[in-house]
Amino acid sequence: MTHEHLDWPFFEPRHRALATELEAWAAANVRDVHSHDVDADCRALVRSLGAAGWLTHAVGGQAYGGAADTIDTRAICILRETLARHNGLADFAFAMQGLGSGAISLCGSEAQKRAWLPKVARGEAISAFALSEPDAGSDVASMQCAARQDGDHYVLNGQKTWISNGGIADLYVVFARTGEAPGARGISAFIVEAGTPGFEIAERIEVIAPHPLATLRFSNCRIPASNRIGAAGEGFKVAMRTLDVFRTSVAAAALGFARRALEEGLARATSRRMFNGTLADFQLTQAKLAQMATTIDGAALLTYRAAWQRDQGRNVTREAAMAKMTATEGAQQVIDAAVQLWGGLGVKSGNTVERLYREIRSLRIYEGATEVQQLIIARELLKDVRA
Ligand SMILES: Cc1cc2nc3c(=O)[nH]c(=O)nc-3n(C[C@H](O)[C@H](O)[C@H](O)COP(=O)(O)OP(=O)(O)OC[C@H]3O[C@@H](n4cnc5c(N)ncnc54)[C@H](O)[C@@H]3O)c2cc1C
Repeated sequence: MTHEHLDWPFFEPRHRALATELEAWAAANVRDVHSHDVDADCRALVRSLGAAGWLTHAVGGQAYGGAADTIDTRAICILRETLARHNGLADFAFAMQGLGSGAISLCGSEAQKRAWLPKVARGEAISAFALSEPDAGSDVASMQCAARQDGDHYVLNGQKTWISNGGIADLYVVFARTGEAPGARGISAFIVEAGTPGFEIAERIEVIAPHPLATLRFSNCRIPASNRIGAAGEGFKVAMRTLDVFRTSVAAAALGFARRALEEGLARATSRRMFNGTLADFQLTQAKLAQMATTIDGAALLTYRAAWQRDQGRNVTREAAMAKMTATEGAQQVIDAAVQLWGGLGVKSGNTVERLYREIRSLRIYEGATEVQQLIIARELLKDVRA
């Protein structure tokens, strides 16, 4: 794999160094490691990513074990792209350490940062981000899970679902309705530790690309008021600020999956013998390969534009939405083309392109489904025209 795109003006020398070191580490440590115990795999990946120092990029603040004082969006995109190309679960383990602790990095108190970020950065505490509910997915502001203040505690009641790392996390950042105002303005964010009485895993959820995932239940779960992240009623903003950082990195993960699919497609097309030649000799194949490569470069340009723009301290609402939509939808097409090039072997369980085909699907749904990204882009466009 070449790193030609890292010569683009979006990057600085430290990004090229990061990509080179990570590539060597990932090739030696995580390529295609898969057992049948996803919880154990995930725990082991978090530990090894932490021991190697990669998780320092997932948290903000050098005083708390972070690689820099603010999260470097281009660095987390390079990390996710590279890890996803080698192993989807390694990308997942890295991403969740960042997403799960992101609210603390961005909006946490000094005490919260000291308590959690160093452990997350070393891979000693696993984190989760609990926003979605059975009746509040895309329409997240309609959440029902409630936190009632009782002296110097809050009492949580309700459910969260689709929570990645649910069941193996030590730290859950949970969003709940505190009722300061209706809708999005009456939500607060809280730290809930695994093992807190009244907090249980109601159900583990199995999906087509296995990773730890669960429904959480809170029944009169008491947590100290000091576990609230940011001001009361500001939880929706905390969630959106966190997603603003990590949405672009979902595009980067999709890019990693797509690049792997192109590698696999090229390898098969040039080695599969048929009709006195190879599959790659035919123009129909070449058209497919050209489309795959062009889709990847288009997605990469949008992804790293959004990452660079955020690192300049500029708003990226529209750019991150464009990157996420284009990279995830494009990766699905690229991977589908790779499956086609592999013929019957493309759908054989255990084949890399078959795994990629399952892995890419949920990226088009979580952290804002494609339709939600379309609405965001249109809203931003119309805002400019109507202003
Ligand atoms: C593998 C996986 C991991 C996840 N991990 C987490 C996690 O760690 N933490 C967390 O909080 N959540 C997580 N989620 C939840 C995810 O964020 C939600 O699934 C997502 O927000 C969509 O919500 P929903 O599933 O309720 O679908 P719905 O909101 O019911 O959406 C269904 C469909 O409606 C479409 N739609 C929505 N709005 C509109 C509209 N205005 N017009 C037209 N169509 C529309 C959507 O695009 C979608 O296609 C995860 C989900 C998956 C699949």
